[in-house]
Amino acid sequence: MVSGVQIQYYFICARKLWLFSKNIQLEEGHERVQAGKLLHERSYKSADKKELAIDNIKIDAIDGEYVREVKVTSRMTKADRWQLLFYLYELKKRGLNKKGLISYTKEKRTEEVILTEDDEQKLDEIIDRIYEIMEQPQPPGVINAPICTKCAYYDFCYAEEGDD
Ligand code: SF4
Repeated sequence: MVSGVQIQYYFICARKLWLFSKNIQLEEGHERVQAGKLLHERSYKSADKKELAIDNIKIDAIDGEYVREVKVTSRMTKADRWQLLFYLYELKKRGLNKKGLISYTKEKRTEEVILTEDDEQKLDEIIDRIYEIMEQPQPPGVINAPICTKCAYYDFCYAEEGDD
């Protein structure tokens, strides 16, 4: 079953998605991930905002008609948006119709996210594509993108390349 993190990684890097899906998870000690966890703890102290975990989805907070996600920066806007759309879609499949709000703390900006039928169709295609990537026997190639220097897999990816 596909998770929200996998949807996010699909938009960041297919190799990252593959490595993560094979349980090669180097995220835990990574500085940016720790920052995200700290942010998460600080952002959801309010008792009326409940964290929700159902099957493959783990939502930061449900706040009335909204599903809320808090991110440090808007650097991954597209990936963040699709991750939230995926949560809205999964909730809708379970009979819960919600809207989404993403808050970017660094930019002090909040964006509303509404799930459309087009988004649902696109998510079905994305999920199929994620399964195809996960089934590949070898990881997709490194992407040599600026984002790599911020990625927990950086040493793994580029050390491996250097050994070729
Ligand atoms: S370091 Fe770059 S190529 Fe490797 S998984 Fe991360 S984003 Fe992808």
